[in-house]
Amino acid sequence: MPRAPGKRAPRRAPYFVVRRSRVHGRGAFALRRIRKGTRIVEYLGERVSHREADRRYEDRDSRDNHTFLFIVDTRTVIDAGAGGNEARFINHSCNPNCETVIEDKRVYIEAIRTIEPGEELNYDYQLARSPDDPPDADEIYACRCGHPQCRGSMLWPPKKTPAQAERPGKRPAKARADKRGTPRKRRAEATVRR
Ligand SMILES: [Zn+2]
Repeated sequence: MPRAPGKRAPRRAPYFVVRRSRVHGRGAFALRRIRKGTRIVEYLGERVSHREADRRYEDRDSRDNHTFLFIVDTRTVIDAGAGGNEARFINHSCNPNCETVIEDKRVYIEAIRTIEPGEELNYDYQLARSPDDPPDADEIYACRCGHPQCRGSMLWPPKKTPAQAERPGKRPAKARADKRGTPRKRRAEATVRR
């Protein structure tokens, strides 16, 4: 139905509010019922190259587990630390109620089940592992989502057991105390090409 000129579309109540979370720092909490499949928010921030993202955070302490980088594709990363919106406060969970979708090189957070008011929104960060990870990377990026199936880490894929990781003839990489880690980047579960 066409709207009268000058009349704005009715404002829907926001889907969520950001406040302190028991899981990690601040989190996003549903203000109303969000139906499965709802596109809740776009993950916004400055769009930069991987090289630029790495350069920006190269001096970051490798013990610092905060990251606002999101991988769009092999060329582009969204840095929500610059011009980011409230989507950056949505926490990780190993049993999430949302997922991230890439469409037209943009990242969206969508509900994968119906979310009740007051529930914390979350998705699986699937933080990329890096070959120069310190041995305790999983501890630095420990998950506290509290779900029975919690894999204990925000990193993806799950850590190999020592038996799997052991490869004959290959010495384990030594971690240096002063090592600067490659900045950690979130990955989307689904890519929807248009
Ligand atoms: Zn977890």
